[in-house]
Parts: sequence; C-alpha cells; structure tokens
Amino acid sequence: MQVYQLGEGTPEVAVVAGIHGDEPCGPRAVERLLATEPTVERPVKLVVANEEALERGVRYLDDDLNRAFPGSADAESHERRLAYDLVNELRDCTVLALHSTQSTPRPFAVADSVDAVARAVCPHLPVELLVETAGFAEGRLIDHAHTIEVECGLQGSDEAAENAYDLIRGFLAATGVLPAPESTDRLDAGLSDEVSVFRLADKIPKPPADEYEVFATNFESVSAGDRFAAYDGEDLVAEVDFYPVLLSPYGYPDLFGYTAERVGTLD
Ligand SMILES: [Zn+2]
Repeated sequence: MQVYQLGEGTPEVAVVAGIHGDEPCGPRAVERLLATEPTVERPVKLVVANEEALERGVRYLDDDLNRAFPGSADAESHERRLAYDLVNELRDCTVLALHSTQSTPRPFAVADSVDAVARAVCPHLPVELLVETAGFAEGRLIDHAHTIEVECGLQGSDEAAENAYDLIRGFLAATGVLPAPESTDRLDAGLSDEVSVFRLADKIPKPPADEYEVFATNFESVSAGDRFAAYDGEDLVAEVDFYPVLLSPYGYPDLFGYTAERVGTLD
C-alpha cells in the first residue's frame, strides 16, 4: 500500500485507488493529480491500495480485497491483511474509492445508503447515477468506512482514467480540499443537474456454463417477460420489471449482476 499526503496535518479526507489490481484507472488518476502538485485548502490522503496485484496486472493475489473487509492483522491472505491496514489508514476519513467495470462506460456512484455524505458529495461528481447497495455491501469498503465508491468506466480504458481524474477532483471540491472547478473545466461541464438513484434489489446468479451473453442495457428498464441474458444459449427471462445494474457476461465469476429499482433523484 502506498500512501501520499497533500497538505499539512491529519487528513479527514482520503482517496483510494487500486483496490482491484486489474483496474488501472484510479492509480493513473492519482499519479496525474500528484504530478500537478495542487495547492490544497485542507490535507488529503491519496492511497494506492493493492500495489502487488497492480504490478502483476491481476485483480487480487489471495482474495478479492473488496470482499475482505474488515480483514485481520495476522491473516494468511495478503488481501485480508491489507483490508485491515486500509481500514486503519482510513479511520475518521471521508473516502472516495475508485473502481472500474465491464458493465458500462457511464461513470456512476455507489453508496451503502443515501445518507448525508452521499447527498453532500454526489452533486459535485460528474455522474448522473447513484446506486444504493442497501445490504449488498458485505465485506466491501463501503460497509466499513464513510465511503462513496465510484465506477469510473470500462476497465482498462483511457476514458475510465480521464473520468477517474475528474471524479477525484469533484470529490476534493465537494470536501473543500480543492476550490470548485472553473466553468471552462471539463469537470464542470460533466456535472449533472439531477442524479437518479437506484437501489439494489437482488443478485442475478450465473449458472455454470461456458458462454454467457447479456441483452439488456445497464440502468435501462427491463420488463417482465423480456429476455435479458443467456448461458450456453439458454435464455434468462425477467419475472418482474427491473433495472439492471453492474450487468455483464464475464464481470463476476458467479453473478451476471444485480436487479435494482429506481427510487428517485437527489436534488
Ligand atoms: Zn474494483
């Protein structure tokens, strides 16, 4: 784990990149921000979490870090020890954690619940979508720290790294670390008047098979009776209306993704 600090004093704001070693957008954006040597109005910690997995270009060495929280100091698993260290590092901080996905190029925010932190931060992020995990966050960092997660875009894409940079700057503006963006800034142009909120409702399990397909688009409604995915040519048909979230053929080993309901907007 690499920890950088900007500004003097004890940070109450932190950014975490590289929780997954196969998601380079966050570490790239952190390096880019450090290279600009920004002047900060309050101290901030910038953390690159799983350096070992990043160096090898793999998601993790022993366990998925974002299912390993709170972890333990003397675990055999690299990620379980790292989870423990990371929770200590982030204690008393408001945190932005950067991820990327195989499900959609659209950046979106993820919070355990739509609480005061989510309401204060999300309008300053270049996102139109907020997903409330509502009980589906077991073992994840958002269950163990005051954290907003962001999905920056497609894994490994340059666009995800660009989005990650804007998402970090938006978060740092929301938390008073950096001034609000100028009207000429790409970040300012990306801010949305309205953030739609989706609440996860159910997992969509993936039966064992060789080939998987998805036919639905994330955050676009699926109606009861619609075919939305298939495994080895066998169709999955919606039993009720839902919105797919994090839906992809190969993003998770045992899930296609999640069903969600649209619960309203942040205003
Ligand atoms: Zn991730």
